[in-house]
Amino acid sequence: MKLYVIGIDGATYRIIRPLVEAGKLPNIARMLHEGCSGRLASTVPPLSPVAWTTITTGATPAVHGIIDFLGYNKTTGKNYLFDSTHRQVDPVWTLAGKVGKRSCVVNVPLTYPVDELNGFMISGLGTPPTNEGLAYPLEEFKKMKHSIGGYHVDIDIQENQKYEKVAVLFRKVMEKRQKCFDFLLDKEPWDLFFFVFTNTDRAQHVYWREHDAENSPFADVIAECYQEADRAVGKAMAKAEAEGGVVMIVSDHGFGPLKNRFSLSSWLHSKGMLTPNSIMERDNPLKGVIKKHVPTRLKKFLIRTVFKSRQKFSGSSAELIRWIDWEKTKIYSHKKLIPYIFLSMMRHLPIQHNVQRS
Ligand SMILES: [Zn+2]
Repeated sequence: MKLYVIGIDGATYRIIRPLVEAGKLPNIARMLHEGCSGRLASTVPPLSPVAWTTITTGATPAVHGIIDFLGYNKTTGKNYLFDSTHRQVDPVWTLAGKVGKRSCVVNVPLTYPVDELNGFMISGLGTPPTNEGLAYPLEEFKKMKHSIGGYHVDIDIQENQKYEKVAVLFRKVMEKRQKCFDFLLDKEPWDLFFFVFTNTDRAQHVYWREHDAENSPFADVIAECYQEADRAVGKAMAKAEAEGGVVMIVSDHGFGPLKNRFSLSSWLHSKGMLTPNSIMERDNPLKGVIKKHVPTRLKKFLIRTVFKSRQKFSGSSAELIRWIDWEKTKIYSHKKLIPYIFLSMMRHLPIQHNVQRS
């Protein structure tokens, strides 16, 4: 029996249900109606590379080893990007290959560099711009690219990019991804066909406020990205019905509005767990961030004491942790998005309190 897995990054019923009710996702609607579905918990932390690796290995982050986007090497004091070489558990396509099954795996986050699997693979989120090692076999990828007129791994959103430009990029990536989907689905009778759509995640990051907003020219961008996935679900269902197989839709985490921010560092400081030091420079880029987001009490303290030294700050979390007076700190946090806390276990040298690879 064949298995078709359609991944929708950041899929949420908050968006899906109203679109289904409006008749805009007919294939997903059919799956909801005729199949079974539910709200599942994500991994801890609920990040794309972490959760997708759990989906593809069946293992928890502590076991498969992908715990974040960035790791911290305690020996060199530098950050590094997690990639597939840090994954410590075989993914499902490797297991399938061991029993002679052919897999086609496309755009799954954190699959770069790709595995030399029994089948075909293109990596997803985490593929460097140089693109070397993004596909296996590379020759097959080149043939496909030539045949469908190019391929984009992901959309590169710059922070201050205009909404119009980003929407154009989404549509460009969508067009190529759909062509790639059709090309590969019909290429051979795969035993496992695992294809992930990531535009949904990207679009929700950019256009959440615009979604369904009256008078916004971008009100439909998120819906379009879900419709891209819906179309693929329809194709996979038709194939499964014709040739025998099962279709699954999976997602790594949900999505929602960002209404408030909570500064874990400030809170730890207020509880006497974290003490900042005075090594930051006066014109540190972090100063603006602190002025804007840190509560008044801690802000005064940080501005007064932190921006005094001559040390440069480049913005990496490894350097951010130099904020901290390790002699007086028991627990700290240096992540912008995910509320990790770390235990300070050695003087002068923080250690992440979880799986660490170098
Ligand atoms: Zn994601």
